Amino acid sequence: MIEDVRTGMRNIETAAFELLEEGLAAHYRSSLARRLGPSVNLDKAIAGFSTERSLPEEFYGWTAHLFGLDRARELGAIPGPEAIQAVELRGLEALAQARARFRDRHPPCAHCGTLLFDRLVQTCEICGGDLKKKVA
Ligand SMILES: [Zn+2]
Repeated sequence: MIEDVRTGMRNIETAAFELLEEGLAAHYRSSLARRLGPSVNLDKAIAGFSTERSLPEEFYGWTAHLFGLDRARELGAIPGPEAIQAVELRGLEALAQARARFRDRHPPCAHCGTLLFDRLVQTCEICGGDLKKKVA
């Protein structure tokens, strides 16, 4: 039986979480590229900022649609709940769960506000801020 990518909520949550992590990894790679320029150091520095997709591509397509829908909703471009299908509404809930898990996994740097790729790092890779002690 072929799974309907629109109704597998757990998979949509996973796909959304992975897309958010992909975005964050890309942000780190481009920030480091701007700072370091093309060099051996850059290759080493960005090596840790990569992610992998664990699901068939169809899930990411549908999830990308949901992100677009969510954005349109935020911008007020969707007139009302009747303009959203029930299956999309459930998908948006899965998106919200993924965002919550993502925020939990990637707290902001106390110095620059960039979300930390690894919450356990002691130095922010973007601003160099010391994260060992709490900022008052
Ligand atoms: Zn920082």
